[in-house]
Amino acid sequence: MAKRKVVDKQVSILKFCRTGSGHEETLKKEVTVIDLVSDNEQESLFVCDSEEELPYQEERSTQFACPVCEVDIAHLSLDDRTVHVEACLVNPNTKKVLYRRIKTTGVVEQTKKKCDRRPRPPIPDEKILSFENHTIAVDAFCYAPHPAISVYLLTHFHSDHYGGLTKNWDHGSVIIVTPITRNLLVYKFGVNPDLLLSVDYNQTIEVPHTDLKITCLDANHCPGSGIFVIESPGLRYLHCGDCRINKPMLESLMQIGRFHKIYLDTTYLNPLYNFPKQEIVIDELCKLLQSKMETMQFSQQRVIDFFVDRKPQKFLIVIGTYLIGKERLAIKLAEALQTKIYCNEEKKNVLSQFGWPNLDNLLDTHNPESCQIHLAALPKLNKDYLAEQLKTYSRHFKAAIGIRPTGWSVRYGKPVPSLDAMVAAESPEMVYAAISKHFDRFREDNKARVLQIPYSEHSSYRELFYFANLLEYDELVATVSPHNQDEQLAMLREFKNYDRLCIENF
Ligand SMILES: [Zn+2]
Ligand SMILES: [Zn+2]
Repeated sequence: MAKRKVVDKQVSILKFCRTGSGHEETLKKEVTVIDLVSDNEQESLFVCDSEEELPYQEERSTQFACPVCEVDIAHLSLDDRTVHVEACLVNPNTKKVLYRRIKTTGVVEQTKKKCDRRPRPPIPDEKILSFENHTIAVDAFCYAPHPAISVYLLTHFHSDHYGGLTKNWDHGSVIIVTPITRNLLVYKFGVNPDLLLSVDYNQTIEVPHTDLKITCLDANHCPGSGIFVIESPGLRYLHCGDCRINKPMLESLMQIGRFHKIYLDTTYLNPLYNFPKQEIVIDELCKLLQSKMETMQFSQQRVIDFFVDRKPQKFLIVIGTYLIGKERLAIKLAEALQTKIYCNEEKKNVLSQFGWPNLDNLLDTHNPESCQIHLAALPKLNKDYLAEQLKTYSRHFKAAIGIRPTGWSVRYGKPVPSLDAMVAAESPEMVYAAISKHFDRFREDNKARVLQIPYSEHSSYRELFYFANLLEYDELVATVSPHNQDEQLAMLREFKNYDRLCIENF
């Protein structure tokens, strides 16, 4: 078994901004990023490792701040750090749970901001889109009403975007949403459907009582997430909400032409975030699990096994999810392994809001033992949970594999050395090799293990490079860490000034 070592410690100074009691203060904090490099220097895409082999002692001695909420998470295990940061990125509500865990290990709990117990702040500039005659607000429901704004846009159903939106919300006359987001708002919060104007992917609508037109494209983030082209007679803006850039998206946007302003999701605008494309990861994971299944079925067919070994031969796959998100992975895996997906009633009700017949047909809420894929809440997906599941279904499964889809992970290591290193197309073979290496490290007696799979719902550094380079625009606005705008814009300018990339290589 390969022995891992910490090859390099990169110390990066990240600037953070904290909103204190009415004034803004920029803090500098030193964050140590551990770069794990595999024995094989060629394997630079990402490094997966099993928990036991990681050098905990060395890391425990350093401070490790969550890039989103700044809480010191050095006391958490590598897996828990990843879960924490993912939770911070997607759903601030889950922070509560994780903060409590941090508190028990000696870190002071942060004071939670409560949207409605203090006077609401005004809508920040980067959430206001001004045209010649009209102004609209994007993902801005948690702020004070704005005298000139009655049109609101909600890019997708994640709480850091819809926050503040309740069934009594009355700051505007219309909220532009996608059909899936509309269904979820009505189903989960009882928002008045008359307030919601939906625009489907690749559809253009006129915004009532304005001279604005809005076109929606798939954001490739969570179900129902959109990126929106908003046009007045003289201006064309693009708001990307949260998005994972992919080739169809880039091609559609290049066809539309020049944008006056693009509001971009820059969550992973950092050379450290070098993770492979989602579709490659899904395909290669399916291939791997399929081949493992075939091996098992073949061994089951041997006559001697039939008499000697009556033990179950299948493994259970438990996929960690949030309220919504990661469904594509579950669907593709279920299709590849020709099995159904088990989840509870409430989860099924949420998923049925998507109106995806292929997903509806795969879901089963009654026969967990006959479904090889189960959905579970991501924060509870660990070895103990898997062991418990395995005990419950011991007559049906011989092992349990937890799939933790994750974007940010200290395990993916190696920052991108230069822009040149990102030009060439990514290699599916390298992704397969890395996942397979991780899988093969499971010992036979390890019946319950968690496999960490790079499955980000935000764009990688490389994808942002292609986006900023290929599209035509006058101005870019970073919607993540707006206090850090200058640094981010400098990076994006560097992308733009690089020799024009070739979309075929994307
Ligand atoms: Zn955090
Ligand atoms: Zn989101």
